Amino acid sequence: MNLNEFYKLEKQRVISECKVCGLCVKKCPIISKTEIADVKPKEIQRAILDFLIHGKDSPVLRERIRACMKCYGCVGLCPQGLNPLRILEICTWEMAEQGIAVFPEWDPKSPDLVHRVLASIQTTALEYERIFKPSDIAQAETLFFPGCNVYYQPEKLLNALDVMKMIDPDFAFVPGLDYCCGFCHIAKGRPGRAGNAFKELMDKITSYQPETVVLWCPTCSCALETTFGPFTEYPFKILTLAQYVSEHLDELEIVEKLSTKITVHDACKVALTGLDVVGSRKILEAMGAEIVEMSRSGPESACCGCAALVTYPEAGSKMLEDRIDEAAETGASILATACHFCNQMLASRQQNVRFKVENYINLLSTSLGIKREDKFRKYMRWADVERILADAAPFVEVSPFSRSLIEQTVKSVFKSL
Ligand code: SF4
Ligand code: SF4
Repeated sequence: MNLNEFYKLEKQRVISECKVCGLCVKKCPIISKTEIADVKPKEIQRAILDFLIHGKDSPVLRERIRACMKCYGCVGLCPQGLNPLRILEICTWEMAEQGIAVFPEWDPKSPDLVHRVLASIQTTALEYERIFKPSDIAQAETLFFPGCNVYYQPEKLLNALDVMKMIDPDFAFVPGLDYCCGFCHIAKGRPGRAGNAFKELMDKITSYQPETVVLWCPTCSCALETTFGPFTEYPFKILTLAQYVSEHLDELEIVEKLSTKITVHDACKVALTGLDVVGSRKILEAMGAEIVEMSRSGPESACCGCAALVTYPEAGSKMLEDRIDEAAETGASILATACHFCNQMLASRQQNVRFKVENYINLLSTSLGIKREDKFRKYMRWADVERILADAAPFVEVSPFSRSLIEQTVKSVFKSL
C-alpha cells in the first residue's frame, strides 16, 4: 500500500467513525488563539466532515488547517481510535488537489537551500562533506539518519556523529536533505511526493541492512511511526538518538561532570505520542545532573510554540515565553532541549533569564571532551551581517556557494530572527 491509498481508506474510516465529539479540537493548544477561537469544537469538526463528505469549503475549515502546528498532541486522544492530525493531512491533500488552497512546495533536495548554505559557512570543507556524504560501506549494524532541520546548526550534527562513532565506530550515516522522511511534502498536501521520498529513504537505509536505525529529528520519528508505520513493516528497530545513546551510556567516558540542576524541554512530537518520553533525562543524569521537571513535561509536555510563530506570531511568542517562565520556576541552571529547532527558538528568548538553553547533545559532547562552538547561536545573538561574514570568512572562502547567495542567506536568516 502507498500513502495515497492509505489516506483514501482512512478518509472513509473518518467519515463512518468520527462522532464529531470535538475532543480533538478542544484539546488542540492553538485553536483558542486563532480566528475560530469562538467557534464550538463540534462545529469546527463538522466543517472538516462537511469538506470530506460534500467537498464543502468554509473559512472554519481553512483556519483549522492553517492553524495546525503539527505538535502531534491530538494523535492519540480520539475515543474512536482515529488520528485527528491525519484527518487534517487528508484535508490538506484534498484542498490542494481541488485547488481550494495553494501550499507552496518545499524541496529539501534544492541545491541552494538555506540549510546547505548555512551549514557551509559554519564548517570546514571536510566537515561539510562529512555531514552530506552517505557512508561508503556495504553493511552496518547501526544506521544514523538526522533529518533536515539540524543542518542550520551543523555543530550539533557533528557532535552527534562523534558520539555515534564512540558507541559504534562502524555505524552507517545517511544524510538529511538529500534523503527525506517525506513529512515536508505531507504538510504541503502532496502525499504522492511524500511516499516517493519515504521509499527513497527506505531503499537507502535498507541497502545497509541495519538492525537499528537511529533518528535525530522528532518529526522523522513521528512520520515513520504514525504516518507510514500503520502500513509498513520495518526490518529494523527504530530509536531516537537519545534512546540509542542512553542504551549505550556505559560505552561513553564522561570526563567532565555536569553537577547542576537541569530541566528538560521534550520534543513535543515524540513526547506527546509516547515515542520517547525519557528523552535526554537518562543521559543528563549519567553526566551528574539533577533533573528538575517543569509543570508540563514528558507525556504531558508542551509545544514551545515555534511552529505558530509564522501564522500567529503573538500566540507563538506567548507560548515560547510561557515555556521560558516554566523553566525559570524550576530554579534550574540549564534548560536542556531535545530538539534543535526548539533549541533555536528557546535560545532566542533567553536574554533575560538566569539559565542557559542547551541542546543535550552539545552538553553530552562537552562532557565527553568534544568542544565545538555553537556558531548559529552566536550569529543569532549578533544579528549583524558584516560581523557574521567576517567571522565565517575562512569557511565562506571554501563554501560551494557564491558570495552573493551567502550574503543573502545570512541577511534573511539572522536579520529576521
Ligand atoms: S497536531 Fe497539535 S496543533 Fe495540530 S491539530 Fe493536533 S493538537 Fe492541534
Ligand atoms: S476525530 Fe475523534 S476526537 Fe475528533 S471529533 Fe472525531 S471522534 Fe471526536
